[in-house]
Amino acid sequence: MSRNFATEIKSPKFKDPSLFCKSAFINNEWVNAKSGETYSVIDPATENEIGKVPEMNVEDIREAIKAAKSAFKEWANLTAKNRHDFLLALHSQILENQNDLATILTLENGKSYNESLGEIRYGATFVEWFAQESRRVYGDVIPSPFKNHKIIVEKQPIGVVGLITPWNFPSAMITRKVSAALAAGCTVVIKPAPETPYSALALAELAVRSGFPKGVINVVTTDKHIKEVGLELCTNLDVKKISFTGSSAVGKLLMEQSSSTLKNISLELGGNAPFIIFDDADIDSAVEGAIACKFRAMGQACIAANRIYVQSSIYAEFASRLADKVSGFQVGNGFDPKTTHGPLINQRAVNKVTRHVEDAVAKGAEILIGGTKHTGNFFYPTVLTNMTKEMVITSEETFGPIAALYKFETEDEVMKLANDSPYGLAGYFYSRDIGRCWRVANALEVGMVGVNTGIIHNCEAPFGGIKESGLGREGSKYGIDDFIDLKYVSMGGL
Ligand code: ADP
Repeated sequence: MSRNFATEIKSPKFKDPSLFCKSAFINNEWVNAKSGETYSVIDPATENEIGKVPEMNVEDIREAIKAAKSAFKEWANLTAKNRHDFLLALHSQILENQNDLATILTLENGKSYNESLGEIRYGATFVEWFAQESRRVYGDVIPSPFKNHKIIVEKQPIGVVGLITPWNFPSAMITRKVSAALAAGCTVVIKPAPETPYSALALAELAVRSGFPKGVINVVTTDKHIKEVGLELCTNLDVKKISFTGSSAVGKLLMEQSSSTLKNISLELGGNAPFIIFDDADIDSAVEGAIACKFRAMGQACIAANRIYVQSSIYAEFASRLADKVSGFQVGNGFDPKTTHGPLINQRAVNKVTRHVEDAVAKGAEILIGGTKHTGNFFYPTVLTNMTKEMVITSEETFGPIAALYKFETEDEVMKLANDSPYGLAGYFYSRDIGRCWRVANALEVGMVGVNTGIIHNCEAPFGGIKESGLGREGSKYGIDDFIDLKYVSMGGL
């Protein structure tokens, strides 16, 4: 059983400590909560306090919304090229400061420093991409049914956007939303997850250095007032859109709350991704793909494989090769250079994963490797075999490092199992049969399919789900549309 644990912890050093900002950011000013309250942010690896940030409430949020509203007209009226230049400046700032940003990310999220660097670079691609997309927000001219008329379609920014983001990708989930919103001409109020405010605040500092006008980007921090703040964002008439990434339960609540003002809403919610390996697959490549897809961010990703279906004739071989790879992982503090996998975010996550393993084992699953926690928030990456559909993991997103292996016999059978979920974010499969590749890709009820790959995220492709996994798409040529209203002008008397 894997018991690798990295202990050589290099204490984090900043080249530029001023990126580690501890106030909230409203109207280009660093501010405290009006109440003066703060809350502590905890390093998930050491469980020590990293620092404090303002505990803001509805009053503070209203200030941020006011600032974003005042800034909106001017920002929307800039030329697309102007907005492109601001975003490109921010892109350069992110890359120049990538090491410090990765340090902040590892401190507050726990993921290994290399993974953090990867996330910072991935996040930066959205800023560059949407800088360029801002110049391609084309309208349309449509032949009119009436004489001497023209139909013109213009694209206009929606207005002030409330962005609510999660802790699992504290930097990239912000850049993916913010850069599309800003490129479209919207201004934003960002509410990062309470666990990971510092990545958001560092991006705000880089926005200052990139010359963004005041009020265009605002970041508010809160922990215990999340519910009231969320309600305010959803019901405030000056906020025209909510863009949320997080759990399905909260996404549904935000949608309900937004209905009173019929606010436009985009939701990137949970998944329960099937990962299918057919017996004609290249097994080495399938193992590699499963490792990347299941264990990135310790499985704390909405597109992580949750149910791994392996055809019976290759089941034993696949399971043993997967477990062998997992035995090479080094769990530990993200700042230890040997660490490949960091801690989970908190005890709640450890408890959930523990409950899932215990439930599976009680119902007949076998632990090939891992299966237990270390100290604190650390849990050993796990491979479970003999999974059946009665086990909780089958229907509940684990959001942790548990590779759950199910055996199947036929394509028909596995497609029914794969689609038997209210969620529809991502799905993956490995096969060398071209007919099957088209057939299965077409039949999977998800927004994103990986065929012979376990990695599907990039700024060029549309990220998003169907069914209860969400609404809207991020990244790609479609992502900017989520922040745009169409206006049709009927031009008569020509
Ligand atoms: P998790 O349980 O993994 O933290 P959540 O969906 O609760 O996932 O969190 C994602 C984001 O949603 C975080 O920024 C969190 O603060 C925020 N959030 C949670 N509850 C609410 C709420 N009632 N209103 C607005 N935002 C919320």
